[in-house]
Amino acid sequence: MSAFVCLYCREPLTCTERGWVHAEGGAYLMRCRECGWQGAPYPSPARCPRCGSGSLRDDHAALPLRG
Ligand SMILES: [Zn+2]
Ligand SMILES: [Zn+2]
Repeated sequence: MSAFVCLYCREPLTCTERGWVHAEGGAYLMRCRECGWQGAPYPSPARCPRCGSGSLRDDHAALPLRG
């Protein structure tokens, strides 16, 4: 087992030239206050891809869990 997972969301992480990122490519996991969507696309979206709301917030930055 050499895979790293995120300390906060337990999603697999990838180490890139930008540092640790989530599987979708974004360092920050975004969450929508309106519909509950969450994801980590890169670059970070300004609006929710599901409902179009601008009420997105950064939930956390990718951080590998060290076991
Ligand atoms: Zn995460
Ligand atoms: Zn939404």
